Amino acid sequence: MQHFPIFVNLLGERVTLSGGGEAALAKLRLLLKTEGDIHVFAAEPHADLETLADEGRLTLHRRAARAGDFTGSRLAYGANEDHAEDTRIKALAEAEGALVNIVDDLHNSQFITPAIVDRDPVTVAIGTEGAAPVLARAIKRDLEERLPTSLGLLTRIGKAFRAAADALPMGKKRRDFWADYYFNEGPKALAKGEDNAREALDALLTRHLSEAPEPGEVAFVGAGPGDPEMLTLAARRALDEAEVIIHDGLVSPEILELARREALMIDVAKHGFGKSTPQEAINALIVGHALKGEKVVRLKAGDPGVYGRLDEELDALAPHGIATRILPGITAASAAAASIGQSLTKRGRNSDLRFLTGHDTKGFTEQDWHALAAPGAVAAIYMAKKGARFLQGRLMMHGASPATDVTVVENASRPDTRILHTTLAALPETVEGLSGPAVLLYGLAPRDAATELKLKAAQ
Ligand code: SAH
Repeated sequence: MQHFPIFVNLLGERVTLSGGGEAALAKLRLLLKTEGDIHVFAAEPHADLETLADEGRLTLHRRAARAGDFTGSRLAYGANEDHAEDTRIKALAEAEGALVNIVDDLHNSQFITPAIVDRDPVTVAIGTEGAAPVLARAIKRDLEERLPTSLGLLTRIGKAFRAAADALPMGKKRRDFWADYYFNEGPKALAKGEDNAREALDALLTRHLSEAPEPGEVAFVGAGPGDPEMLTLAARRALDEAEVIIHDGLVSPEILELARREALMIDVAKHGFGKSTPQEAINALIVGHALKGEKVVRLKAGDPGVYGRLDEELDALAPHGIATRILPGITAASAAAASIGQSLTKRGRNSDLRFLTGHDTKGFTEQDWHALAAPGAVAAIYMAKKGARFLQGRLMMHGASPATDVTVVENASRPDTRILHTTLAALPETVEGLSGPAVLLYGLAPRDAATELKLKAAQ
């Protein structure tokens, strides 16, 4: 991010603009929304500028700007549509300590004016660092449609009530009250008039003051393999509503970005917990937050019911009578199979499918090796990097062909996906050095040579 967005207080501050034509007027349309003290310098001002000056909305100086005009200016605009004149203005304004913007000249500007969606006091600023004005306009259009024009008034009425709402204890109670106002009661009441909205706030406060606190709840949410597009709508909603999100290290940053801004995010894989976060510590965290009456999301990579230690966490919650729900997600095996154009079961090849783990908390795991060694067997093997040599040994000992296809999919569904097609014979060497999460598709090769070639090139 080269340009950092901030909101500058212009109340009573001097803002100086040089230019008297269309570009100047376009900027003024935005600047006149503020409560700044606006000075325009133009030797030949457009008639509309004269009108604005007559209306007392700005001070018009009917001459070119000169040294001293920018002293005490918070912002300065060069809108002369003339490179030489704007360059002169830039030097003057900069020397006098103002932040300068030259219209349509990113290179010579110290700041940029974003596209603005104005629902004062709610203001949305959109910028693309000059990369894509078309995109900024489209986003603005989209937001203009989505944010009702009454939002400003709704917010102003709410703002005036903030002191009264302080009667509610800070935290969840107060947040719930405001959520009820902004997303529920407020808009309904405002549709019937401004006074109605004010009265609704009083009634709402009385109700929230007398309500017993809501009990907490825990949703076990599958975050899928990493691509946010692979979240379910239910998962998306749970992330929107969560007050606390306790997540695994494997959950991708793009997905964490989607969480409600105010949510408390707890990473139970890192930050003081270390890779070996004791399960008891995680259980205690979940229980502790739920008992405080909070909406907890326990966010797990893939599907929470596949190698997610879900039962242990459910068992920890059960004695406390805390409500729980499970929102399934796309497990790594599904995403990996999709990425190589294969199905996980196929008529005439495998009518059963096994999910295996390379190791569990006690070490390498024993499986039904005999069944797995049979021709056509398919298995998705999780957490198999460490145990690859062990798996290979056991399978070959039980008669599996060394030529059996194995496809290793690392970072399935993510931009850095890697697909390595190999054989059982070469499996241990293939997984060496993989750094991301990887699932092995035992018994499957990428569907076609084209996929394979593309994948080879990417390796
Ligand atoms: N609940 C998860 C599995 C958790 S166990 C699920 O349903 O997918 C962790 C293992 O999952 C990793 O060691 C790896 O084998 C696999 N895994 C998780 N995300 C993955 C991804 N994006 N690509 C490949 N494998 C992944």
